[in-house]
Amino acid sequence: MTQECLIHSHRNAEIQCHICHEYFCASCFESLEGLEFCLEHAKIIRKLQWEVKEEIECTSAQSELAVEMVDRKIHLYQTQRKLGFIKTELKIDQNNNIVSHLRWYQPKGSLK
Ligand SMILES: [Zn+2]
Ligand SMILES: [Zn+2]
Repeated sequence: MTQECLIHSHRNAEIQCHICHEYFCASCFESLEGLEFCLEHAKIIRKLQWEVKEEIECTSAQSELAVEMVDRKIHLYQTQRKLGFIKTELKIDQNNNIVSHLRWYQPKGSLK
């Protein structure tokens, strides 16, 4: 099933916002720091300062760790409107395994 834009229900969505996880079309998002955000959250990204709340490294065999972190982040947004986004970088370790490095950012000064 194709996702539709949250604002333009007749347009296909191109991205999922990294803060609210809603779907948006090409005219409803902005890329910042290599991630896509809806226009509302792009504004917040620029306005606030961000710090790393948690970071993990996992190989593809441990991908449930990454899924678990993303799930927790979505849950915090949905239940408490806690803002945050997760940035993922892929690296190759000395054994040639692909390692994902996930950093969960929250607004600076938030309680952990
Ligand atoms: Zn958003
Ligand atoms: Zn749209």
